[in-house]
Amino acid sequence: MIDRAIQSGVSRLFLPNIDRESILPMLDLAQKFPENCFPMMGVHPCSIGENYEEELAIAEDWLQKASFCAIGEIGIDLYWDKTFLKQQQIAFAQQIDWAKARNLPIVIHSRNAFQECYEIVKEKQDGTLKGVFHCFSDGIREADLVLGLGGFMLGIGGVVTFKNSGLDAVVRHVGIEHLVLETDAPYLAPVPFRGKRNESAYIVHICRQVAEFKNMMPQDVAKATTENSKRLFGC
Ligand SMILES: [Zn+2]
Repeated sequence: MIDRAIQSGVSRLFLPNIDRESILPMLDLAQKFPENCFPMMGVHPCSIGENYEEELAIAEDWLQKASFCAIGEIGIDLYWDKTFLKQQQIAFAQQIDWAKARNLPIVIHSRNAFQECYEIVKEKQDGTLKGVFHCFSDGIREADLVLGLGGFMLGIGGVVTFKNSGLDAVVRHVGIEHLVLETDAPYLAPVPFRGKRNESAYIVHICRQVAEFKNMMPQDVAKATTENSKRLFGC
């Protein structure tokens, strides 16, 4: 899969952590492809439950032991249930503090929880915080709020290729300097692979769609969004 990505011209893959289970496989992959795979550390909101303090302690311990390009994925997910909203809010705020202390960007997972995420980021933004709202799927109003925070970009994934996603309006509205491309593999495969297992090579389909909406050449979108990611992640 990584070989196919590299052959397609996709050479920089950002690996989000989920919870204690994903850490070793992620680091193993990053070690095999040190030029291409950049791991993050954090606890995903869907892995925040009763024992969230233990999950956070494990992630924080890894931050001392290894080097990571970002704190992520972190955020709030209210899609399945709201039982642990309070814990998700506490964990999100705490992990943002880790990012600030280490001058790392954050990669935010927000699902059915834009307002909840936004409020915490806004409160924490002191001019030093930067990051990406990954797989952004809200509207123009929310996009403007994100850009108003300063230091934040919108991560555009396969949903942009779905009919009636509403993302065409957002992509047309926002300057290319505020966008980064992503796959969210193995989820959210772009058309023509919708519903199948997603992989990094498919980002070319996302790039093509963004180029069409922005009336740009795909190679110019690729160049601009790659530069944006370098500026954001510093690698
Ligand atoms: Zn996510």
